[in-house]
Amino acid sequence: MSLVCYPQLPSDTFVTRFRCLLKRWFMRYHRDFPWRGTRDPYAIWVSEIMLQQTRATTVVPYYQRFLRRFPNVQALAQARVEEVLQLWQGLGYYRRALALHEAARILWREYGGQFPRHPDLLQRLPGIGRYTAHAVLSQAFDLPWPVVEANSARVYARLFACPEPLTSSRVQRWLWQVAKRLLPSRWPGLFNQAVMELGATVCLPQQPRCDQCPVATRCQAYRQRRVADYPVPTSPRIIREVAEVAVLIHDGNRWLALQRAPDADRWPCLWEFPHAEIAPREPLVDAARRIAQELTSLCVAPSHCLGQICFTVTRFRIHMTAWCASAQDLEVALSPLHQAARWLPLRQLRRFAWSTPHRRLLTLLDNWPEPPRSPITST
Ligand code: SF4
Repeated sequence: MSLVCYPQLPSDTFVTRFRCLLKRWFMRYHRDFPWRGTRDPYAIWVSEIMLQQTRATTVVPYYQRFLRRFPNVQALAQARVEEVLQLWQGLGYYRRALALHEAARILWREYGGQFPRHPDLLQRLPGIGRYTAHAVLSQAFDLPWPVVEANSARVYARLFACPEPLTSSRVQRWLWQVAKRLLPSRWPGLFNQAVMELGATVCLPQQPRCDQCPVATRCQAYRQRRVADYPVPTSPRIIREVAEVAVLIHDGNRWLALQRAPDADRWPCLWEFPHAEIAPREPLVDAARRIAQELTSLCVAPSHCLGQICFTVTRFRIHMTAWCASAQDLEVALSPLHQAARWLPLRQLRRFAWSTPHRRLLTLLDNWPEPPRSPITST
């Protein structure tokens, strides 16, 4: 049995004062974003999905473009998935875009484009969890549903000196109880936004601005001078280094692009070049030949290295070396990882929706508007 002592839920006096201080601060200092102030559940929903794992300032141009092209549920439901992915390109976590599109189709088909007003119904839609359902319902309809996400969780952990890491399921249950206890029934949408804004702009993960905090006098971490100790850290994530080869295959006129399967673990439905991990001690040229063979069944002749890019995906740091290779035979047999293959000139390939790393590989080809026509030498 754990001996960790959990903070009590706040008293009535605390709750009243906290709401008052927070509201006054938010009305004066909140940042202006295009999704602030709207009561349109569709616009709030789109913003909430885009804001997952992504900074608000990054989201703004994507949100504006998306809303211009798809101003309501009907427009999104009737769009082609390719167009949705294109507008999402660069925002990352593409499964969000696919789920948004699928959920819009269900909302249009089963609810006539209206949003059901209970979280249990909203959470049946793809990509909508408890947080998103509560955020949409509280902000669009002022329904009293609390929210807990990274920013508000950090605020609560410090405010009440929570003794365990945020990832613990017990802490998660406690956080939702705290959020519910603090939530005012008359302005839940504004309250939810205010706590998240406090976490995003004042109660920062590193070096919080306690001297500017409206609730500093109520904050236990601050009063104990132990702000740096909260939230209690989890054990550090181990990053694994991975070496990959991407094979940019051409037939003398066109390049080969593959479209990922819709159930791919990452970047579903986006376009890419054939790529995979290098086997231990495998020479790069051999890896390029093997990967092309395994993913496309083509026999290719690697000619030269185009360069290397590095990027991080979840707990992997990937070092991807790009090899240019020619193919004589154009008949592609796809592996289960991909759903389509196209041979196209570079300018047409650029119009597809690519994952961010493979868009970077495309830029390596900027000096090759057409595939190299010189005789290919196998290395
Ligand atoms: S006083 Fe500091 S640690 Fe406490 S809630 Fe405010 S910003 Fe966060």
